[in-house]
Amino acid sequence: MPVYLDHAATTPMADVAIKAMTEQLAKLGNPSSLHVYGRDARKDLEGAREEIAVALDCHPTEIIFTASGTEANNTALKGLYWKGQAVGRNVVVISAIEHHAILDPAQWLKDHEGAEVIEIGVDSNGVIHLDELEDLISRRADEIAVISIMSANNETGVIQPIQKVAELAHSGSIPVHSDAVQSFGKEPLSFSQLGLTAMSVSAHKLGGPIGVGALVLRKGYDVPALLHGGGQERDIRSGTFNAPAIMAFAAAVKETFLDFADRNARVRRLRERLENGILECVPEAYVNGAKVERLPGIVNVTIPGTESETLLLLLDNEGIACSTGSACTAGVQRPSHVLLAMGHGERTARSSIRFSIGATTTESDVDLALHILPAVMERARMANLR
Ligand code: PLP
Repeated sequence: MPVYLDHAATTPMADVAIKAMTEQLAKLGNPSSLHVYGRDARKDLEGAREEIAVALDCHPTEIIFTASGTEANNTALKGLYWKGQAVGRNVVVISAIEHHAILDPAQWLKDHEGAEVIEIGVDSNGVIHLDELEDLISRRADEIAVISIMSANNETGVIQPIQKVAELAHSGSIPVHSDAVQSFGKEPLSFSQLGLTAMSVSAHKLGGPIGVGALVLRKGYDVPALLHGGGQERDIRSGTFNAPAIMAFAAAVKETFLDFADRNARVRRLRERLENGILECVPEAYVNGAKVERLPGIVNVTIPGTESETLLLLLDNEGIACSTGSACTAGVQRPSHVLLAMGHGERTARSSIRFSIGATTTESDVDLALHILPAVMERARMANLR
C-alpha cells in the first residue's frame, strides 16, 4: 500500500465513523417526518449535533449542517455580505492566503454583487498583518460587511490570530467569519471564546466522510439562504438531512476529542521526525512557516532546483502520496498563491510540496518517505535541468 501523507486533503474515515454511517444507512426515516421513524431519526441527528457542539464549544442550535466546508464558507461569506449590503455596507475583507472556497465566493461577490474585496497581506512566515486590518477598520468600519480570515492555512498549516481578528472586528461592530476547516480537531477551537460570528468546519478533515460540514452561526445573525426549499436548518439551509453522514461526522469528532492532546502530540512528533529528516538529507531545503505556530500535521517544504509537479509524480511512483496543497486547474499546477503572498517568487512557489500527517500515520510511513526522498529529489533536480 502506498504511504498516505496527504491528510490535509482528506483523511481516512475512522472505523467508528464507518460503523455509525453504515448503521444509519440501514435505518429508515427522514428526521423531518413527524411519525415514529422520523422522530427516531431526529433523535439521532440531534444527538450528533450536540456531540459536535460540545467539541466546538458552541450551542447546538448554532450548528447548521451543510454538504461541505465549501458550502459553509459560501453561506457565511455571501450571507453576511448580503446582510451588510442591505444596510449600505459593501466591503468584504479576506486574507490573501484563504482557500479557494473563500477566494472564489469573494470574487463572485465582486463580479455580481458590487462588493469591494480587500485582501489583507501576510508576512514572510505566513501570518496575516494585523496592523493592516486594524488600520482598515479604523478608517472604514462603517463600510465593511464581513471579515473572513481562516484559522489555519491548508498549505502551510500556519495558525492565524483569529481571536485578535475577532476583537478588532468587534471594535468596528463588523461580523467576522473564520474558515476553520483545517483546524477542527487539530488545535483547540472554542467558538464561544473566540468571539466569532461564524465558523466553517468539514467532516472529512478529521476522520469523517466527505460531503458533510457545518456552519456555526451565532444566534441573532441569521443570513439569507443559498439553498431554498424545506428550510430544515433555521431556514438558512434547505435539503433533507444527510443523517448517515452527520452521524459519522459526530462519531469521528467524538473519537478525535477523546484523546485530543495525545493524538496531536503524536502527530507533531511524526511531523518533526519527517521535517528534520528532510532538512538533514537536503540542507538547502526550507520549511515554510517554520518560525511560527503551525498545525501539528503539516509540513510545507521548498526544495530549490525542483518542480513540485515532478516531485509529486516521482514520489507517487515510489509509493508516497503527498500534495502541493495549491489548486490545480485542468491539470495545470499554478504557483501557490499562499507562497506568493509570503513573498516567494514564482520559481520557489513552484518548488514546494506539502506533506500532511494524520492520526493513522506511523513511524514507518515517515521513515519510508525519508528513505525514498533523497533519490527522488536528485531525479527531480536532474529533470529540472533538462
Ligand atoms: N477550507 C479549507 C481551508 C480547506 O482546506 C478545504 C478543503 O481542502 C475547504 C475549505 C473545503 O472543504 P470541503 O472539502 O468540505 O468542501
